[in-house]
Amino acid sequence: AIVLEGVTKFYGGFRALNHVDLEVARGETVIICGPSGSGKSTLIRCLNRIETHDRGRIVVNGHELTDALKDIAAVRREVGMVFQSFNLFPHLTILENCMLAPVQARGISRREARETAMHFLSKVRIPDQAGKYPGQLSGGQQQRVAIARALCMRPQVMLFDEPTSALDPEMVKEVLDTMVGLAGEGMTMVCVTHEMGFAREVADRVVFMDKGAVVEQDTPERFFSAPASERAREFLRQVI
Ligand code: ATP
Ligand code: MG
Repeated sequence: AIVLEGVTKFYGGFRALNHVDLEVARGETVIICGPSGSGKSTLIRCLNRIETHDRGRIVVNGHELTDALKDIAAVRREVGMVFQSFNLFPHLTILENCMLAPVQARGISRREARETAMHFLSKVRIPDQAGKYPGQLSGGQQQRVAIARALCMRPQVMLFDEPTSALDPEMVKEVLDTMVGLAGEGMTMVCVTHEMGFAREVADRVVFMDKGAVVEQDTPERFFSAPASERAREFLRQVI
């Protein structure tokens, strides 16, 4: 579903991604971890072209991400993204938040969009909150709305950038449980997280980044029990 080959990205003269090679197969859950500033968010953001890369290739669901790409909207429809901050529209109800993009960007009828929204709000276990506004929900509930909203676009890939790091500890589990469910249903997922227990549970592969490069990638069993690099060992000492 996703291929990166020799992807390099500069912010001015600063090299934020350094020759990254990575493949994510359909249905795979890949966890990206690494120290602050290692390029994790930059990598995720290049996958739906919120950021553009300077060298190398990125192919997402068969779309080659280049300046010549005509239909960036198609890529964004196929790739759902959930951030650390929930980014819900505060003046719209939960239901309206979930209906907006399907109606506006996919041209789906309001009736169908409402059914889809309620389906996914039920899935993230907050159908009863549909009529409320984001400010009336807990952080964990808001993040589950953000996930449901992304799913309403029927994406083929879901990207997560530290979806639980802004949450109070008691709300982390409800969001992770939602993501475990998604992974179990075969969603293709790329997830930046420091939740290593979650990574162990759901990851098909763990990718460790440092200084803009992929330092190692392995199954969670091998990565957590015997990381190959000193940098990964050092990182794991700090987060576990
Ligand atoms: P964190 O764990 O703190 O979220 P990260 O691994 O997600 O870190 P990035 O946000 O990808 O790291 O940033 C990688 C590097 O690029 C950092 O050194 C950061 O300061 C730099 N950087 C990120 N965005 C920009 C920008 N818009 N302009 C200039 N430099 C940037
Ligand atoms: Mg980041």
